[in-house]
Amino acid sequence: QWIYLSGEFVKKEDAKISVYDHGFLYGDGVFEGIRVYSGNVYKLDEHLKRLYNSAKSIMLDIPHSSEEMTEIILETLRKNDLQDAYIRLVVSRGVGNLGLDPASCSSPQIIAIAEELAIYPKEFYENGLDIVTVATRRNSPDVLSPKVKSLNYLNNILVKIEAGLAGVSEALMLNSEGYVAEGSADNIFIIRNNTLYTPPGYIGALEGITRAAIMELSEELGYTLKEEPFTRHDVYTADEVFLTGTAAEVIAVVKVDGRIIGDGKPGYHTNVLLDGFRRKVVQDGVK
Ligand code: PLP
Repeated sequence: QWIYLSGEFVKKEDAKISVYDHGFLYGDGVFEGIRVYSGNVYKLDEHLKRLYNSAKSIMLDIPHSSEEMTEIILETLRKNDLQDAYIRLVVSRGVGNLGLDPASCSSPQIIAIAEELAIYPKEFYENGLDIVTVATRRNSPDVLSPKVKSLNYLNNILVKIEAGLAGVSEALMLNSEGYVAEGSADNIFIIRNNTLYTPPGYIGALEGITRAAIMELSEELGYTLKEEPFTRHDVYTADEVFLTGTAAEVIAVVKVDGRIIGDGKPGYHTNVLLDGFRRKVVQDGVK
């Protein structure tokens, strides 16, 4: 396996960064998780736009144009001869001294890792997920916007730990006011009376690329879609609940905090949206 590391391809075993990299020392950097379907990089432009916006927000200058980044990704795929893959693109602040000030960092480090896709087990899609809500809150938009996909993923990691303690694989974060924000690395939708609801950006969630694709698809399929804040009560009493994300695509949730959703099986509309999404992924890619 070849890793792109700031200008060269190195073997996985040799892909190492300095302990003085501020990405390591402080979580100072940004990243993207991107999916490749049959050699097509899904929504690459959207991922790059989000990467550059995240970087701009934390005043990190990416030393490559979007076209150059595209070439880095495509070259990483070619080099590893991958058709269906997951790509992790990381831009860290780079190597500096021990102080917080990024002024000591000479240049950002660009890393692209392409791996064979680890698909979620089929049972997850057939049976749906049992999830919980946890004590960890989504950081508030007035602190560091959750729209920034930064290397600092401590909230999300704590959500995973809390989910594990509860014996489930995924969990939901609320925001500081108690509105449902998102999962550890997935956005949430609920369905009630054929209408889809997903929290608006200001509630505090990453603006997921799969979320946007599902919003678009749901309108094409004639569903009503509302970006509205909702609470745990609304989730417990929804007809259907599902999560969206690059890795998970669309995945049904059948139990939340012990409350069974609908009839306890992945919902009809969730399956319609998952099928529609999977039909479109190849055509929405960059080759
Ligand atoms: N929310 C968070 C915190 C994430 O890290 C991700 C994953 O990227 C998502 C939501 C889903 O976003 P996307 O559909 O772009 O993968």
